Amino acid sequence: METLIQENIAVNNPINGEKLYDLEETSDDTIKQLYQNAKTAQQKTATLTVEQRVDEVLKLRDYIIEHREIILDRIISETGKSRLDALTSELFEVCDFIHVFASRAPKILKDETVSTPIVLMGKKSKIFYEPLGTILIITPWNYPFYQGLIPAISAFLAGNSAIVKPSELTPLKSLFEEIFDKAGFPKNAIQIVYGSGVTGKRLIDAQPDKIHFTGSGKSGKKIMAQAAQNLIPVDLELGGKDPAIVFDDVKLERTVNGVLWGGLTTSGQACTSIERVYVQENIHDEFVNNLTEKAKKLRLATSTKTDDCDIGCLTADFQKNIINEHIQDALDKGAILHCGGIHTENNTFPPTILSNVDHSMKIMTEETFGPVIPVMKFKNEQEAIELANDSPYGLSASVWSKDMKRCERVARQLKTGNISINNHMLTEANPNLPFGGAKQSGFGRYKGAEGLKTFSNIKSVLIDKQSDIIEPHWYPYTSEKYQLLNQLILSFFSKSKNYVKFAITGLKLDSIGSKQKIK
Ligand code: NAD
Repeated sequence: METLIQENIAVNNPINGEKLYDLEETSDDTIKQLYQNAKTAQQKTATLTVEQRVDEVLKLRDYIIEHREIILDRIISETGKSRLDALTSELFEVCDFIHVFASRAPKILKDETVSTPIVLMGKKSKIFYEPLGTILIITPWNYPFYQGLIPAISAFLAGNSAIVKPSELTPLKSLFEEIFDKAGFPKNAIQIVYGSGVTGKRLIDAQPDKIHFTGSGKSGKKIMAQAAQNLIPVDLELGGKDPAIVFDDVKLERTVNGVLWGGLTTSGQACTSIERVYVQENIHDEFVNNLTEKAKKLRLATSTKTDDCDIGCLTADFQKNIINEHIQDALDKGAILHCGGIHTENNTFPPTILSNVDHSMKIMTEETFGPVIPVMKFKNEQEAIELANDSPYGLSASVWSKDMKRCERVARQLKTGNISINNHMLTEANPNLPFGGAKQSGFGRYKGAEGLKTFSNIKSVLIDKQSDIIEPHWYPYTSEKYQLLNQLILSFFSKSKNYVKFAITGLKLDSIGSKQKIK
């Protein structure tokens, strides 16, 4: 039996270490009630048109915009993000997603008519996108607002109910409920449940119709194993070790600024922040010097606020140990430290630049999840691709060069779910692009059209008429039918196609069907 976490969990402010409140695990009885509420709410949601669901979601956007500063205060008090990081990557992204999907959702979820092959002449084929039921959404601590709302809103637009279990580190207790309530969003269409993995497990035991999980690979594997017991479908959005490949023809000033931001935004605690940089050898030294110079000028959060800073805090205490361990391992194996380095005092970890790194080091192979940018030299395009692909992860990457053909060529060869060219993490800024990982970074996509369809039962419908004809491939099976069907295949699919023969054979088969008319 696995040991379960205690029933009380303290939620702290990472900026000053103060305790904000206690959280309790949610009991099985409460969870049962939540699923019952979800079922009732879903029946109502299913009766709404997609346009009516959009109207409900727009109420959320309006409330969020109006109360943005209060919402940002809440996000910052639990994550320790810099205010600008919280504004752009949490609040803006959610509003932009709603804005884009307000017009796209009705089109994406509309019944679709697809073509029907000639052998099925006279019939029609359609696809219906129907709700699955109740979607369980389990989220991590690094983007609590964004990760909680975007999948839940997507699930709702597709006609489902959602139950969201935020991370126990950044639960934003009561914030979502307040937004739903005050905005006048349909009751229980999205419910929030608090607790750790213990509550997460209980929620899976209660058998949702689908699980959308964002978090670590370690938890992802456990969730998938538990879901497998009841064949519950899962989408897994897991960790990454994003590479940035910088070729020697780049505009150095812009590229250094881009890589600096891509590696350090949200203190490097984004699943798609740059975790390793490969720079072509002839610009390597200049690149590292420039990067270091800029990193040293960044302003860290203070122990009381993150309003006026570039780099916010580490959200989770335990991350500091992982980051320090990776830096120490790199230094022990010969890495050169240009700025930052081991830090033990508080949660404002200084930006750290390392060079002379290689793939024997944890800093280049394991998820560091901190404000550290290790830079390694490469000689040519092929070597850069091999280095970037030498990772169990495949979440996202960036390629930097003036040569757009080369950028695209390299992008095609990287085994990842997302790639930005001459930018980083920008695929996530476009809600029209599906987001998800390859390899150990998970599977399934959210956002884009796929992000609504992933929460749909994609129902295929073949429509025939109530005619008197008995289909030629139905019983009785006769040798005449066999020969005609054989001829049909040859005349239609073989290299020496013969459409006249195909039409004549088809007519003969139809006439057999007609003769068998129901008396
Ligand atoms: P985590 O796996 O520790 O926890 C994530 C969530 O899962 C939490 O809510 C936790 O309570 C819950 N949980 C843990 N064990 C569970 C279990 N057995 N059953 C049910 N629920 C369980 O991850 P974390 O530390 O919160 O988040 C950081 C990780 O998330 C990093 O690896 C990061 O790269 C990844 N991440 C990925 C994406 C993406 O889109 N691919 C986005 C953000 C973060």
